Amino acid sequence: MVTSVIMVLVLIMLLPRDAQARDKSGRITTIVIDAGHGGKDPGALGRNSREKDITLKVALKTGELIRKQHPDVKVVYTRTKDEFIELHRRAEIANRTKADLFISIHCNAHKSRTHYGAETFVMGLHRSQANLDVARFENAAILYEDDYKEKYEGFDPNSPESYIIFSMYQNIYREQSLLMASLVQNELGDKSKRFDRGVKEAGFLVLYRTTMPSVLVELGFISNSNEEEYLRSSQGQQQLAESLAAAFTSYRQHTEKNSKPREVISQARPNPTIINTTSADSPAMASPETLSVVRNTQTGSLDTQKTGQGKRQEPQSVKTKTSSSVTDVTWRVQILTSPKKLNQSHSKLKNMGNIFEYYHKGAWKYTTGAFSTEEEALVYRNQLKNQGFSDAFVVPFAGNERITPEEARKLQGK
Ligand SMILES: [Zn+2]
Repeated sequence: MVTSVIMVLVLIMLLPRDAQARDKSGRITTIVIDAGHGGKDPGALGRNSREKDITLKVALKTGELIRKQHPDVKVVYTRTKDEFIELHRRAEIANRTKADLFISIHCNAHKSRTHYGAETFVMGLHRSQANLDVARFENAAILYEDDYKEKYEGFDPNSPESYIIFSMYQNIYREQSLLMASLVQNELGDKSKRFDRGVKEAGFLVLYRTTMPSVLVELGFISNSNEEEYLRSSQGQQQLAESLAAAFTSYRQHTEKNSKPREVISQARPNPTIINTTSADSPAMASPETLSVVRNTQTGSLDTQKTGQGKRQEPQSVKTKTSSSVTDVTWRVQILTSPKKLNQSHSKLKNMGNIFEYYHKGAWKYTTGAFSTEEEALVYRNQLKNQGFSDAFVVPFAGNERITPEEARKLQGK
């Protein structure tokens, strides 16, 4: 009991103190781009490069592209040069500028030099040792700070016990963060040809303290010599930045299209489903507990979430969401049919995001992407066609059951 009271107190103390209400219209007006590490904190080290240099270059290029493509969006960086910025300061910058989205850019490292691929995290409780290890490494940046024990209320990045506080964290921006994370993964796979290690969750202090949708992207493994060459090349950095900017564009379109005036509060929808892929289905290099988001934000859910903006719920008042009575329609793009069940490391599937498998009319069928509208799925299908999936077509689902487009449109009131 005493322990839990202390935990709640610690949790409240750790909450951001300068949360401010942002643009209520649902428009995306400000993005904060956070280049991981810097100055005395080099981040992960490769043979020929340092994480802090790669993250800065990719961050600046990403911001440049977003400024060009979205002149009405304010791009704010947590750093623009090689300097040390404390972790809590990074979140404060995002909170003070009332950012609508926070993206923290990092590179991964592993003692096994064979690991490669990109993964994107949202704030949450780790479900595997591998995910905890990534968070531990990134949180260890606070060890470079003076008085980190006081500033982070005794949080010890290397102690598993410290991570218990995250189990009480209620992420009111979870759906939006998951949407951005899965868009980032899609684009890193498409444009940068990175191996997709999936969308994951873990307790990152920098995300914990932000009061907006936020993701932390690990662009690739600096410890893998092939991937390091890509990460440090200017062509690679340009492609990575293009991927992040494209993900932002999709995120903005999706968010602004789905936002309605504040007075209209739509029915609460269930959280996106996260499926723990079994090890048998996992791509060869992904950890057994890789998460894959199979359904993204549903239409209307953003409005409901925005009602809690700026005033986080106390941990005590956390309630379990009830599932919606409205049938959820998900639009996917089918790319492959096979008489035999395929492994997800199959050459045609391994670089695709959000793979969904189902058995229908005597064959195994594979789709990619998950959208709440037919239009978005069609845009994605066209992209896939350009990439050589000439037979790709859109299929709607009610839950996990395939339905006809007519049924889907009817369910969606079209
Ligand atoms: Zn890092």
